[in-house]
Amino acid sequence: MPQPASLSCVIPCLNEQANLGILLPQLLATLGPETGRLEVIVVDDGSTDGTPELMRHWCGLHPEMVYLRLSRNFGKEAALTAGLEAATGDVVVCLDADMQHPPELVVAMLQRWREGMQMVYAVRATREDESWFKRAGSRLFYLLMRTSDGRGVPPNAGDFRLMDRAVVDALLRLPERDRFMKGLFAWVGFDAEAMPYTPPQRLHGVSRFRPLKLLRFAIDGLTAFTTWPLRLLSLLGACLSLVAFVYGLFIIVTHLLFGDAVRGWATLIIVILFFSGVNLMSLGIVGEYIARIFTEVKGRPVYLLRERVQGRAPGTAGDAAPGRPPQPPAAPRSANPASPAQAPASQGSTS
Ligand code: UDP
Ligand code: MG
Repeated sequence: MPQPASLSCVIPCLNEQANLGILLPQLLATLGPETGRLEVIVVDDGSTDGTPELMRHWCGLHPEMVYLRLSRNFGKEAALTAGLEAATGDVVVCLDADMQHPPELVVAMLQRWREGMQMVYAVRATREDESWFKRAGSRLFYLLMRTSDGRGVPPNAGDFRLMDRAVVDALLRLPERDRFMKGLFAWVGFDAEAMPYTPPQRLHGVSRFRPLKLLRFAIDGLTAFTTWPLRLLSLLGACLSLVAFVYGLFIIVTHLLFGDAVRGWATLIIVILFFSGVNLMSLGIVGEYIARIFTEVKGRPVYLLRERVQGRAPGTAGDAAPGRPPQPPAAPRSANPASPAQAPASQGSTS
């Protein structure tokens, strides 16, 4: 059975020292035999625990390891982007550090890749473990995302997925800075297949995605991939104008017929309040899109790298460079759209 010549695992992590100590040995043991060359890229998204020390130690023992330390917390999407840019494998797998993404499932994903699938993504078989509120929220989110300008986002799919090199290269060509990865994964297309699984509980620590952050995340996704809310506003404006016109006619006619000029104060207040609310809401929705444009035109890098440590076998000289900016600043990817995969990755992507 053909093995991928090389397999890269990208693991974004924020204060996951306790989990990494358990995940990494499992990963090496499970995936090592599956490929000619395994590469495990741990992207440290501004951890304040002992992750840097742990990873330097691991890199001194295992040539498969690559440790990327971002200069601060840039968010999971940026950490994933950093990992994908650094990955060199024919096949790339993204998984979380908290043991919610079992390495054994990657073996099953690899099997589907061997059979010709270019992307295999894990979907939660059930959300029964979540609160009613969160379940309703995610149902609404996926419903709205079905209207996106890609193929929609597959319901209940996360970032846990295996991708062929062709898919990764396509993702790296997308120039946006505000990177809603779930949407980008779906947008690039290719032959993709869902693999149901039941995620175990997080081993140590707590989720960083609290309800408010999830709401923010959902709004980011919607504004990144849909424009219909703007059109909906135009439609709402047109409908309300029509209603206002008809109501205006009604008032004129009753005034002419009955001379009734004083009544209607309550109606007036309600109408003013209603229209003020609609106006403010519309401004807010338009503002969300303008904020996205603002983020994009600033053109700041998606992340900045503070340290890169390349793993090495014990007793050999490595190229660890803790604390030293590893390379000159990367040219903005948008300035070199023809060869995104070759853009220097170590000083932050400008994608
Ligand atoms: N993570 C990250 N940066 C962040 C937040 C989270 O790299 O700002 C990592 C985190 O360490 C974990 C993964 O993203 O490996 C998923 O995070 P979490 O378990 O908190 O999310 P959930 O599983 O609840 O969606
Ligand atoms: Mg988790």
